[in-house]
Amino acid sequence: MFCSITSTAISGVDALPVCVEADVSEGMPVFNIIGSLSQRTKEAADRVKTAMRNLGIVLPPKRITINLSPGDVKKDGTRYDLPIAAAVLSALGRIPEDRLKDTMIMGELHLDGRIEGVPGILPSILLANKLGISTALVPAENAAEAEAAGIVKVTALSCLKDLIDYCTSGIVPEQPPLRKVNAQEQPALKEDFSDIRGQAVVKRACLIAAAGFHNLLLSGPPGSGKSMAARRLPGILPEMTAEEKLEVSRIYSVAGLLTSEQPVITERPFRAPHHLLSPQALVGGGRTPVPGEITLAHRGVLFLDELPEMPGRNLEFLRQPLEDRFIRISRIGRSVVFPCDFLLAAAMNPCPCGYYPDLNRCTWTERDIHNYNSRISQPILDRIDLRVDVPALEYRSLQSEGKDEISTAVLRAKVSAAFEIQKDRYRDLAFSFNSGLPANEIKKHCMLTDEAARLLEAAYHSLSLSARGYHRVLRIARTIADLEGAETINEAHISEAVFFRQHAGKA
Ligand SMILES: [Zn+2]
Repeated sequence: MFCSITSTAISGVDALPVCVEADVSEGMPVFNIIGSLSQRTKEAADRVKTAMRNLGIVLPPKRITINLSPGDVKKDGTRYDLPIAAAVLSALGRIPEDRLKDTMIMGELHLDGRIEGVPGILPSILLANKLGISTALVPAENAAEAEAAGIVKVTALSCLKDLIDYCTSGIVPEQPPLRKVNAQEQPALKEDFSDIRGQAVVKRACLIAAAGFHNLLLSGPPGSGKSMAARRLPGILPEMTAEEKLEVSRIYSVAGLLTSEQPVITERPFRAPHHLLSPQALVGGGRTPVPGEITLAHRGVLFLDELPEMPGRNLEFLRQPLEDRFIRISRIGRSVVFPCDFLLAAAMNPCPCGYYPDLNRCTWTERDIHNYNSRISQPILDRIDLRVDVPALEYRSLQSEGKDEISTAVLRAKVSAAFEIQKDRYRDLAFSFNSGLPANEIKKHCMLTDEAARLLEAAYHSLSLSARGYHRVLRIARTIADLEGAETINEAHISEAVFFRQHAGKA
């Protein structure tokens, strides 16, 4: 007897079709699984046999062969337990084969027959949609995520017995309650810019950073509100489009981070990993590559606090992704690509103790401070358009009560307007934001008034700007002009852009 079932393998943020075939024939009693398997996947044999035995299903003393094809797709994880069980039961004639036609199956089995959730359900269901498959049998834990992908009829299973009942008598087990996810719903923002009193320059820098999707470096003493400001950045970015939400949800699905409470990601991500995380946790990797923090921050904000404390190799690993906005992870014989189009908000103390330039409190020499600052390599700094000094909070701001008038809603409206202008200007181009404006396109998109051109030239000489620095000033000025709805960049725009360029000027 022979049976074949459709399942999936995960590669990057995509699902690939995998066919699970089972054959039962006379011969030495064995239970063999073949087809380019990882160690964890090979162990499916023991899980499946034990789960069946605990349900009272005794396997006949026959030769059982399971093949997972195609052979050139690496199979990893425990997602094949359930399709293997289904294929074997069908090949043994315990469940009718036609019940599993046109059906996609995924799930891990416990030894007692319970079904456990697996990562990558969302891209799998999207694949099922594409292949025109009508039904998906998924672990109950993944039901909400599967429903969110739409079209395919989803049946949630909690244990192996559910599968058998469903296939033999058509009994649909009790389905977990679904939380209605309303894509139109404005995400509730818990943290608001109006919580931050004063710090007008920092808020202005955050506004410009968000409006042009520019990377940002905040330098200031501990407790000055750097992380408070960074944390509020995703809130002033416009809501993600439906397409972007799906794109981000795919990432969280393959990372196994979607839950029944949060089956899709609707808010822009904010990731704030510790600076001592491993390179793999930062950029992604592993035997079966999983996304790292830079990919989990896709379409949102990656906050790196204490940037100079980050090991140099981690900073080096960031270089390419910051440039390309995707990362390619190569493993023997294959490579996967993860998107990582994030806004980098980095923060640092002005010196190792944090109090410079307050010389009464700072105990470090100019030379120590220089060394501290130069831990961030030039190639990384080159990719950070905006740098701002965050002063210690003024006593007056601490004393005052109530909310600041610069709120998240006010800033978000300005950012949205600037996004629209850029969307229109860069339509049909490979980039969408001023931060992505390549050097050879800058002239075309950054028209200057005569005064602005003269001021820029003066700044170029007096600050001895590099070509990169010059382009950075123009990109920032472009965003400042867009925030005002101005088509031509004027003197004031250049002047403010130069201000943000000069600050944290030591670095
Ligand atoms: Zn110090």
